[in-house]
Amino acid sequence: MSTPVVTLVVPCYNEEAVLPYTMEVLQQYLQELIDQKLISERSKILFVDDGSKDQTWKLIYKASLEADTIRGLKLAGNAGHQNALLAGLFAAKSVSDCVISLDADLQDDILVIRDFIERFKEGYEIVYGVRRKRETDTIFKRKTAEGFYKLMEKMGVNLVYNHADYRLMSRRALEQLERFDEVNLFLRGIVPLIGFRSTNVYYDRKERSAGETKYPLKKMLSFAFNGITSFSVTPIRFVLLTGCTFFFVSFFVLCYFLVLKFFGETEIGWTSLITSIWLIGGLQLMAIGLIGEYIGKVYKESKRRPKYIVDIDLFNLSIPEHLRER
Ligand code: UDP
Ligand code: MG
Repeated sequence: MSTPVVTLVVPCYNEEAVLPYTMEVLQQYLQELIDQKLISERSKILFVDDGSKDQTWKLIYKASLEADTIRGLKLAGNAGHQNALLAGLFAAKSVSDCVISLDADLQDDILVIRDFIERFKEGYEIVYGVRRKRETDTIFKRKTAEGFYKLMEKMGVNLVYNHADYRLMSRRALEQLERFDEVNLFLRGIVPLIGFRSTNVYYDRKERSAGETKYPLKKMLSFAFNGITSFSVTPIRFVLLTGCTFFFVSFFVLCYFLVLKFFGETEIGWTSLITSIWLIGGLQLMAIGLIGEYIGKVYKESKRRPKYIVDIDLFNLSIPEHLRER
């Protein structure tokens, strides 16, 4: 496959300030790649309007009439960045050999798209755009991001460090992604689970070219919390462990207090009061943790994640020719 059909998917939420510039730059770049016969002339840019309240959709619609390479998808309401991205990826899937997702503010260096495509031609099915430095982020954002990656790692979630949602996915990878039909899909955690051949491409992240961030602190926290809770039941297990600890410690404390009561000196009524508080407290926490374990199981089941993913199928030969030999 020398000239793959590539679709760039760009989720947009209230991006009227930056869109005209983004469209111009992306379109020019895509045309360049087409002219150089690096990608097929059927390649497109798909802008997904995530229920914007400003002129975003109007801009997309107008541009799609003027330029054949520009396409639009409008969501009914604000579904959030991750879902808008998914909508675009799945819409583009069947007509593209690979899909590249990027933000509307062009913070991610688009010049590495060329590298993405070269890696794809070499047989990689997932290419992660990884930030070399995070100079343009505030110290606060850098530190919190670092903490987030560490926490996720401790909980056994496999994330690509300093990779946001700038990535290339082959059609086959997208077909597998579609099988993860959980409601809260945390893409950065799910994509590595697909497990197809993947690689990184490094770039420097720039300042937002116009407009404001759509990820204020509140959204960022909720994103992180979502990431943690949709991947791991560790927080629940923590409650169970705390409960067990309390319970067993209180058992020894109780023995100690009883010894004090019969052989030493204590206030009247104090021993029974304090031991019952500790025992009951420990028992309660333990019970909550135990219930949590079961809820955790139900939760895992309810996600209905695929149990396996086929990479190469020499029986059906459903795999493109250039990927059959590795
Ligand atoms: N975005 C979206 N829906 C939302 C919030 C954001 O589609 O509810 C898009 C936004 O238009 C941008 C991308 O997601 O293209 C990333 O958002 P932003 O650049 O504001 O995040 P930051 O880079 O500040 O983390
Ligand atoms: Mg941004």
